Amino acid sequence: MGIIDGKKIAAELRAEVAEKVAGCARAPHLAVIVVGDDPASAVYVRNKARACESTGIRNTTIALPAETSEAELLAAIAGLNADDAVDGILVQLPLPKHISEERVIASIALEKDVDGFHPGNVAALFQKRPCTVPCTPKGIMKLLEAYGVEPKGKRAVVIGRSLIVGLPVAKLLLDANATVTICHTRTADLAAVTREADIIVAATGHSGTLRGDMVREGAVVIDVGINRAPDGTLCGDVVFDDVAPKASLITPVPGGVGPMTIACLLENTLDLYLKRYQ
Ligand code: NDP
Repeated sequence: MGIIDGKKIAAELRAEVAEKVAGCARAPHLAVIVVGDDPASAVYVRNKARACESTGIRNTTIALPAETSEAELLAAIAGLNADDAVDGILVQLPLPKHISEERVIASIALEKDVDGFHPGNVAALFQKRPCTVPCTPKGIMKLLEAYGVEPKGKRAVVIGRSLIVGLPVAKLLLDANATVTICHTRTADLAAVTREADIIVAATGHSGTLRGDMVREGAVVIDVGINRAPDGTLCGDVVFDDVAPKASLITPVPGGVGPMTIACLLENTLDLYLKRYQ
């Protein structure tokens, strides 16, 4: 069994980004909007700001109160869209219930959509046109590549069908010529499906989703989940100690997919900057 060291691969990518940023005429600029005071969002936003600093990317975090109206949020985004000094815009999800995430994401200028969630980018990904690829799926593919996992001809199972993780990672695996199955809460016999897989991506948000008896010897297991165990520690969707002895490669939580998501966000910011000035 080998552990996929997401921290190491992410550090390498960050160093590459930092080197390219140093050669830019001005620092690429990422603007992050956070609405309300969700503690998990606050941690993510702080981590993103720190990561920007460490690579020379300029970061502006705009913190709006929970009672911000949708119109006020759309106006803030319109301001950033029009601001020539801003290259990437990220709206931290989830948003308060009274605001439509769909409308907000669609209002971000396509050329500044650093998360790749804009309908224009989603369509481009599914039509295999150039686009901004969402950070977590992109990071997962980079981890597989770094560890020499070739998806071509392999059976890949993605557990989860969200627009943010499950669907785009399934599409990227398909584009890499894996035979892909997407599972969800209505999948009849999840274990029977996962047992057939060479590559499993678990992205459910529920600890204990993937146990050792659901995995065949030698499978590659990517754990996207970020959950809190009853004792307060961070854990993934995969029962690590149970699955790891059977897996040929496995990502830990923390230290697997998470650092890659942030490193890919930095890379996407740089790429949007470069595209604007090409
Ligand atoms: P969503 O809640 O949007 O989607 C979860 C998906 O998993 C749904 O499609 C759901 O099925 C499916 N699912 C849930 N429980 C089960 C189950 N027991 N068996 C089979 N399928 C199940 O979550 P996200 O995709 O946004 O995120 C997934 C996880 O990844 C979360 O823990 C999140 O925190 C984490 N995450 C981590 C990132 C990182 O950088 N490491 C980045 C982004 C997310 P159905 O559609 O039927 O409801």
